[in-house]
Amino acid sequence: MFENLTDRLESAFKQIKGEGRITDLNIAATVKDIRRALVDADVNYKIAKEFTDRVKDKAMGEKVLTAVSPGQLMVKIVKDELVDLMGGSESEFNAKGNPAVILIAGLQGSGKTTFSAKLANFLKTRSRLSPMLVAADIYRPAAIDQLKVLGEQIQVDVYSEPENKNAVQIATNAIKEARSKNKNVVIIDTAGRLAIDEAMMTEVANVKSAVNPQEILFVVDSMTGQDAVNTAKAFNDRLNFTGVVLTKLDGDTRGGAALSIKYTVEKPIKFVSSGEKLDTLDVFYPERMAQRILGMGDITTLVEKAQQQFDEEQARKLEKKIRKNQFNFEDFKQQLEQIKKMGNIKDLLGMIPGVGKAIKDIDISDDAFKGIEAMINSMTRQEREDPDLINMSRKQRIAKGSGKDLNEVNAFLKQFEQMKQMMKMMNKMPMGRMGMKR
Ligand code: GDP
Repeated sequence: MFENLTDRLESAFKQIKGEGRITDLNIAATVKDIRRALVDADVNYKIAKEFTDRVKDKAMGEKVLTAVSPGQLMVKIVKDELVDLMGGSESEFNAKGNPAVILIAGLQGSGKTTFSAKLANFLKTRSRLSPMLVAADIYRPAAIDQLKVLGEQIQVDVYSEPENKNAVQIATNAIKEARSKNKNVVIIDTAGRLAIDEAMMTEVANVKSAVNPQEILFVVDSMTGQDAVNTAKAFNDRLNFTGVVLTKLDGDTRGGAALSIKYTVEKPIKFVSSGEKLDTLDVFYPERMAQRILGMGDITTLVEKAQQQFDEEQARKLEKKIRKNQFNFEDFKQQLEQIKKMGNIKDLLGMIPGVGKAIKDIDISDDAFKGIEAMINSMTRQEREDPDLINMSRKQRIAKGSGKDLNEVNAFLKQFEQMKQMMKMMNKMPMGRMGMKR
């Protein structure tokens, strides 16, 4: 995410790194490079210019601090400005009501339907609410089916009226239905068009007046950069939405949308979405995003994602097994499954400071574990629980079953043994117990 911007900012800071102090003269090149980096990331020129003017003023106004080098100072100033530009602190999401109504709007293909399902899953699992999804796209029957398929995956009811061509009626009927079924949140996925058009705007605006939503979220594909910002403006003029959702941050996004939207529409980004897995939706934190843009990683999010997947009880059991040298393939398989649920592997690694840059050109797909899983799946339950059982003929069977050759199976078994030893050793160190209450 935003790799190019990260690289460019880093080289801008390098210019001033060796200097003893910041002067009018030596800051000029850095500021110019920062501005270019922002513009090339598809940030609107006016925003980039104001941004760098503020950075320059702040840098020049700083007293000379001996403890902080000009390079560090610039990074700090730019980080603070990025945080400000993206809205300062995270904003509230209002899901209170009987039921709370959340209206989802945006262009077709922006990721509205996928996001609606992600949000339903988020509210169900994290906020323990009982959501209902509503398919209010009256033009594309396929959109109703798509939402139904997603709803089934997350086990959330989907309300639709395939024969009804009146979105306002569908939405109001859905709310009645939600009340009768004791659902406390209704998420309405509205129709989108490929470009802004009057009929679509009128329809969404009518739905809005009829259902009086707690939240109106505008969904935008972050890969569309400046276009995203212009579309946001048009929707906001008509709908006065409450927040923005940036999707497809896993794709080749330059950053323009994330950095310009708040400034342009004066509405906060509330969620960011990357990937098609329904259990990966993140609340937007300007501070964390700024850190990621500056290549500082985002350990907070990484830890939170881990906490959502691994509970303490389980961690304790696992620790005990590791200590007794009983960690087996079954445990390993479960761990892999949980890691995969945390999200896209490359994204996760990128949250570790310094790692994102190192792996940016390496192709790490979510299939990275496939070979390992195939080998574990080809083991019998007994073999998984007692790796010592695996003799030559069993190895041959595992190789055949997983489509690997014998060398690969041997290498994997050896690696597993080494990993076990290492985990045991780490477990003895204070670091290995970090964060675990006992
Ligand atoms: P809608 O027309 O606005 O409802 O958009 P959809 O939810 O149908 O999404 C359009 C396409 O983008 C689909 O192929 C989705 O699978 C894909 N998509 C949605 N969200 C994301 C995302 O965060 N990342 C990626 N890579 N693809 C996404």
